Amino acid sequence: MTAAYPYPNSPQHIGHARTYTIADVNARYHRMKGYNTLFPMGFHYTGSPLFAMAKRLREGDPEIIETFTKIYGIPKSTQEKLKDPKSMASYFRDDIKKGMVEIGFSIDWRREFTTIDPLYSRYIEWHFLTLNRKGLITRGTHPVAWCPNDKSPVGVVDTQGDMEPDIGESFLIKFEKDGVFYPTSTLRPETVFGVTNLWVNPKATYVRAKVDEELWIISRETVEKLQHQNHKVAVEREIQADELLWKTVRNPVTGNAIPVFPGSFVEPDNGTGVVMSVPGHAPYDYQALIDLKARYADSAGAGPFLQATNHISIIRIEGFSDLPAKDLIEKFAVKDQNDPHLEHATQELYSKEFHDGVMKENTGSYSGMTVAKAREAIVQELTRQGNIETLFELKNAPVVCRCGTRCLVHILENQWFINYGDPEWKKLAHKCLDQMIILPEEIRAEFNYTLDWLRERACARTVGLGTKLPWDQNWIIEALSDSVVYMAYYILSKYFTKDWVVFKKFEKDTSKLPDAFFNFTLLGEGAVDGVAEETGIPKRILSTIRTEFEYFYPVDMRHSARELVSNHLSFYIFHHSTLFPERQWPKGIVANGFVLMEGAKMSKSLQNIIPLRQGIARFGADPVRVGVLATAELGQDTSFSEALATSIQERLGTLLGQARKLGAKKTAGKSKPSTLDRWMISRLSNAVHAATTALDRLRVREAVNIILYQLDNDVAWYNRRLGPKKPRSDNRGRILRRVLETRTRMMAPLAPHTAEEIWSRIGNKGFVVQNKWPEEKEMEKDPRAESAEGLIRHVLEDTSEIVKATSITPKRVAYYTAADWKWQVYLKALKAADEQMRQGDFIKEVMGDPLLRSLGKSAADYAGKAIQQANQMPDEMRKSRIQDGVPAETTIFAEAADFYQREFKCAINVWKEGDPGISDPKGRARMAEPYRPAIYLE
Ligand SMILES: [Zn+2]
Repeated sequence: MTAAYPYPNSPQHIGHARTYTIADVNARYHRMKGYNTLFPMGFHYTGSPLFAMAKRLREGDPEIIETFTKIYGIPKSTQEKLKDPKSMASYFRDDIKKGMVEIGFSIDWRREFTTIDPLYSRYIEWHFLTLNRKGLITRGTHPVAWCPNDKSPVGVVDTQGDMEPDIGESFLIKFEKDGVFYPTSTLRPETVFGVTNLWVNPKATYVRAKVDEELWIISRETVEKLQHQNHKVAVEREIQADELLWKTVRNPVTGNAIPVFPGSFVEPDNGTGVVMSVPGHAPYDYQALIDLKARYADSAGAGPFLQATNHISIIRIEGFSDLPAKDLIEKFAVKDQNDPHLEHATQELYSKEFHDGVMKENTGSYSGMTVAKAREAIVQELTRQGNIETLFELKNAPVVCRCGTRCLVHILENQWFINYGDPEWKKLAHKCLDQMIILPEEIRAEFNYTLDWLRERACARTVGLGTKLPWDQNWIIEALSDSVVYMAYYILSKYFTKDWVVFKKFEKDTSKLPDAFFNFTLLGEGAVDGVAEETGIPKRILSTIRTEFEYFYPVDMRHSARELVSNHLSFYIFHHSTLFPERQWPKGIVANGFVLMEGAKMSKSLQNIIPLRQGIARFGADPVRVGVLATAELGQDTSFSEALATSIQERLGTLLGQARKLGAKKTAGKSKPSTLDRWMISRLSNAVHAATTALDRLRVREAVNIILYQLDNDVAWYNRRLGPKKPRSDNRGRILRRVLETRTRMMAPLAPHTAEEIWSRIGNKGFVVQNKWPEEKEMEKDPRAESAEGLIRHVLEDTSEIVKATSITPKRVAYYTAADWKWQVYLKALKAADEQMRQGDFIKEVMGDPLLRSLGKSAADYAGKAIQQANQMPDEMRKSRIQDGVPAETTIFAEAADFYQREFKCAINVWKEGDPGISDPKGRARMAEPYRPAIYLE
């Protein structure tokens, strides 16, 4: 199994520990279950984050300096050394590795590497040459998110706040005046029939520019965007919005003259800064027109224009009036154009009209078409006329590059892409996903969505560390493309160290290591003799590597963070599905949520980041491990706090205390186990079952709860029942040792250091980590003992309540268990209810028994009560009680008498209803029922 290798551009904090701790628990758990589990680790140097961080440090960015100084306590003199990206990487790599060792991650460090190791680069070259040979690398012209400063495409790892740029396409419909065009950006070209006016921002600066062969009016901000999308733009002059307002332009479809109005909500950097207004079908426009009319009510100049501007209805949808925009404004009770509800109203109408809308009679040849169809048709018509263009936008703008520059969309020509849109490749990826275990299962839908949605993705950059594209040395393979098949490299990396011939031979000039080496060791292609000859590597070593690869691969479980589902983890599936044969496809993915600090997101500004190594030093390794596991299951965000870490520290301390008390000397239990002993072992067996089931699905929170907490309730009950230490006759020492020993084995994956300490304190040899995970033993499950203890506890609670309610300090407590005939009726009632016998028939049958008939009314009354109880009982309970038959209640209570005596500090009597010589001054015995003895206090 593998976990995402860290990116060493800062130290790790508590939040990073979650993924690795879950991975380590998984590795340790499986080792104890007998698997030879490989858990390796490397370091990801490639890409822009290291470059950007070192640069910010060089430039004296106060935020970075403060973070490094105040949060991570890095001395100023050390910071000086971090200004070079490679030095920074190796400094933080050391720090991260120390943290991983200190917290006890069971990593095979022989396989450690970095992604700028020359042999890793050679491996990535092989990876890309193979993709290229399969036709999955394309060269083409596509829109990409782009940093104009770096002149490089940007992806999620290149942006501040790790934002995945989201590219969308909108239409520019060209309105016109005297041969000059006003391109307006819209997602709904079919609404051009309903345009009443255009909006421009009254405070923005516009330009008149020659765009390709035409004159356009656009916002100043639009110029750069168009230039990046293959338009030739020459600005003639700047224009203030005033110059545009209150004039008219021509609608290219209807030919109508349309006025230009001021709209302060228009963003000059969104679209072209010129917007068409469709108040009949766009809630924003509807509201803005109302606001504008109110504002200019008394204006002589604007008044007449505005008076004449009225919404136009062009789409019909069932359940709405002529003006759906108005309906929704009323539904959401929108107050003015700044009301956030406008967004909801817009979304709802957009989707309703697209799916159910039909174009009205006033839309000419489009009349009667569905909105979806009309949209396509109008785009075609406008394209023929040359009145429409497309514009790509970042839908989630602003997206800011790590260098601090705002990103935009660039149409990149002749750039290299990985073609995730290839239909055959998509099929393979889906096939792979369908066979995988995904934990938590609910994120499978996200994977399916991503696999479908992914298209060509730019795979190279001009900045950062990394491997050059083997066939185009101007480009560096970017960080989310060179990190998707490195799991296979862990097998090779062990042989790429100085003791091995592969390293000695090729370290100096890795280009001499032929593809045949990778094809043979990883894909099994070629015969070993030929490959040995071609590579000069001995056959024995080639075969060893190949065997080891086949032994460990595929990766059974990949651990990562949930936010990587939409990129890294999906790429991981894609690349493995095409590179490797099906039997070596990944088997499973575990994705976990974030760690919150005291319930809040960790952030530099909140100063609530605890560096991992400081956390370990303060709370100890195990409390940090358990702390990031204890409060949430995989999919959810978990919350860490000092109070939590301290309470876990105390919990582990208590267990260590128990171990000290038990000591190393083993006592041989001589006596036959009591019901109570059997109960304790049965509870232990149940806990083993529950913890195993939980860890099989990596429900770590549940496992922590069972192993570290719940079992203590049982141990406490066991001790309470036994009371103060008795002579040698009891088995307490042996049973408690057994419990703690089993528990320690279950603790070992979660809190390995504490587990080892306990293991040795209770006198075991060797390491608990080398022991087996406990097996549940069916024969040790004892439902009878469990039900007997349940009864004793229940009666204890009932008695305590009576004592409380009556405020009596009892001198004597008498328990009366039910008479044999009641048990006979009770069991019959359970069976009758199970067979759904009618109540009347049941009573008739009971009273048919001469013995019961002789008891008269009391038997009939009890039979009625018993059948009612049996009918209302949960199925499972009824079945288990039928199976249990008649428990020896009198014996159970007689054995528990000394316990009750200690609890209530008085004499205890136990009788069975109807016993000769029974003392029953208040006639309580007749109220006894099976599982509910009558209680008498005096
Ligand atoms: Zn940049």
